[in-house]
Amino acid sequence: RAKRDGGGVARRFDPVLFAKAEQRRLAEHDLMRGLEAGEFEVHYQPIVDLDNGGITVGVEALVRWRHPEKGLVPPALFLDLAEQLGQVPRLGGWVLEEACRQALAWQVQFPGFEMNVNLSASQLTNPKLIQEVREVLERTGLPPRDLVLELTESVALTDLVESARVLSQLKELGVRIALDDFGTGFSSLSHLSTLPVDVVKIDRSFVQAMPETGGASVAEAVLHIARTFNLSPVAEGVEDAGQAERLKDLGAGRAQGYHFARPMPAIGVTELLDKQSAEVKLEM
Ligand code: C2E
Ligand code: MG
Ligand code: MG
Ligand code: MG
Repeated sequence: RAKRDGGGVARRFDPVLFAKAEQRRLAEHDLMRGLEAGEFEVHYQPIVDLDNGGITVGVEALVRWRHPEKGLVPPALFLDLAEQLGQVPRLGGWVLEEACRQALAWQVQFPGFEMNVNLSASQLTNPKLIQEVREVLERTGLPPRDLVLELTESVALTDLVESARVLSQLKELGVRIALDDFGTGFSSLSHLSTLPVDVVKIDRSFVQAMPETGGASVAEAVLHIARTFNLSPVAEGVEDAGQAERLKDLGAGRAQGYHFARPMPAIGVTELLDKQSAEVKLEM
């Protein structure tokens, strides 16, 4: 039998810890392999204009991993690890270019069609970000005003002074900035006047908490704030017609959610836009 160790320094082999470390090692290896093999795809979720019959005026780019064994893997299952491995700037740069290229293709049919792209903390603090965005805009030819970069509050607020500086530089390129998941972070209000933001995306938790009839809601309050600061609101996570109707009445302007469309591969958006333009022509 093993002698009890006095100082607690000696370690027994712990099969659970070992299994965890092994699993992690495999996950890291798999992710690096997937990146190398180009297994990532950009899907797009339509953003609709509530005041204009719900037509699609833009999309949000959302990354997915087409895993050879696991199928389509959502970002919640790999972004953290990619972040820890320092791969998000590289992956995000690819998403940005792919999305801008795609947006330009859709603009042939719909001039002014907008592309929203998410940026993570590590992308915002990457000193190469400004140069990269400028180059992508030049290479793809997308008008800068049609690109909206989305940041979650937590990202923008970690280092407020630095964020404000980077966001101003991005704005000088002509792109627009959206605060994502608005209202879920801390002290969001006090920073609206500090950060050069154009759009607020109302988090889906507030949209889904709206009362069925009457009554005040956080969504309504956020819309008020948006108006006060002259920001364009987009309601996220709209899942039913009732929510869509109420948001329209509250003047939300734009919305996104499963009620309108799920995120889909580019071809799905192309088909949707074809259908939409056929309908517009029929009405004329
Ligand atoms: P997000 O930017 O807030 O994106 C919206 C998320 O809500 C998406 O999840 C979308 O599929 C989901 N969603 C849309 N409508 C509804 C709805 O009606 N109901 C519900 N329950 N959910 C809805 P997804 O694609 O899994 O992305 C999750 C998060 O991962 C994103 O949240 C974003 O923060 C991050 N992300 C996605 N793609 C990228 C990327 O290319 N770069 C970076 N840095 N982050 C990304
Ligand atoms: Mg987003
Ligand atoms: Mg969001
Ligand atoms: Mg959200």
